[in-house]
Amino acid sequence: MKKHNFSAGPAILPASVLQKASEAVIDLNGIGLSILEISHRSKEFIAVLDRSVELVKSLYQVPDDYAVLFLSGGASTQFFMSAMNLLDDSGKAAYVDTGSWSSKAIKEAKQFGTVEVIASSKDKNYTYIPTGYAVPQDATYLHLTSNNTIFGTQFRTFPKTTVPIVCDMSSDVFSRQIDINQFGMIYAGAQKNMGPAGTTLVIIRKDLLGKVNRTIPSMLQYQIHIDQDSCYNTPPVYPIYVSMLTMEWIEEMGGLPVMEAQNKLKAEKMYQAIDSNPLFEGTVRPEDRSWMNATFILKDGSLESLFLKECDAAGISGLKGHRSVGGFRASIYNAMPLESIGVLTDLMDSFAQKHG
Ligand SMILES: *Cc1c(COP(=O)(O)O)cnc(C)c1O
Repeated sequence: MKKHNFSAGPAILPASVLQKASEAVIDLNGIGLSILEISHRSKEFIAVLDRSVELVKSLYQVPDDYAVLFLSGGASTQFFMSAMNLLDDSGKAAYVDTGSWSSKAIKEAKQFGTVEVIASSKDKNYTYIPTGYAVPQDATYLHLTSNNTIFGTQFRTFPKTTVPIVCDMSSDVFSRQIDINQFGMIYAGAQKNMGPAGTTLVIIRKDLLGKVNRTIPSMLQYQIHIDQDSCYNTPPVYPIYVSMLTMEWIEEMGGLPVMEAQNKLKAEKMYQAIDSNPLFEGTVRPEDRSWMNATFILKDGSLESLFLKECDAAGISGLKGHRSVGGFRASIYNAMPLESIGVLTDLMDSFAQKHG
């Protein structure tokens, strides 16, 4: 029986995507070859790559002054690659620290220039999104993590600033409409909301490049990947292919306006169940709650293993919270059906009736 997959990442993909992805492993579009055994320079794969770039551009309405790349190394490589390419030794970058992933990005950027942490929610174990800070006008960029996968907070709106925003969107890419012009660069590891592990989407405004003096190894230069259309070396062929299928699914569903409306509805259902249940409690300030990762605890922690056992019996998988928060985390990405959330919230209700 297929489980209800609440995993934070790698995470749920649409059933139709898994079906098509499995067929292409045997035979890609009837060409008599597997997607796993064709050249990255073949016309078949170039068509996959072109289509993937085109889908990113149409879903986010990306203007021509931006480049779209599919790289490898995960979002964690972007923590340093962004600073390496954008921040000069004599320059300064502003960072907002909203959790483990931002902290890691900060640590890496410090190798390349001055890093100013202009706001942080560390004082309350990252349970809120900071507000009321000023972005220094002389900063080269402002780095944000739009959705904090571990702690379950999310920026509802982004700061209005003329400083280019560099944003880690790993766990909420394609989950809602955004104005791409607000960002200088976006990066996202595929494995939360876009595809399988193994590729990282980068969208970057081209005029931000070429402004640092250091020498950068070829594989770590955005400009080289732009000039070579993500094919400077062998790109992650299969993760790109499955990401393409997922983006096609998003488009067929009605694009980002539909994803956004569905994600809002799903999140409301999830948080309503947490708030109305006497046994459970959300861990995040309500106005900063993530629509992708809902974090909550049992007020009586001794019931935790019993609840997880009942989840397991009901086919609910991946609900255990990250070790730094404890409790539970329901990751409800684009592909998560409302019905699966219903299975979880029904179980929470019946658990409260038995143990309340
Ligand atoms: C998962 C995650 C990362 C790390 O991604 P990798 O691809 O494993 O390097 C970075 N940022 C955020 C917000 C994430 O959710």
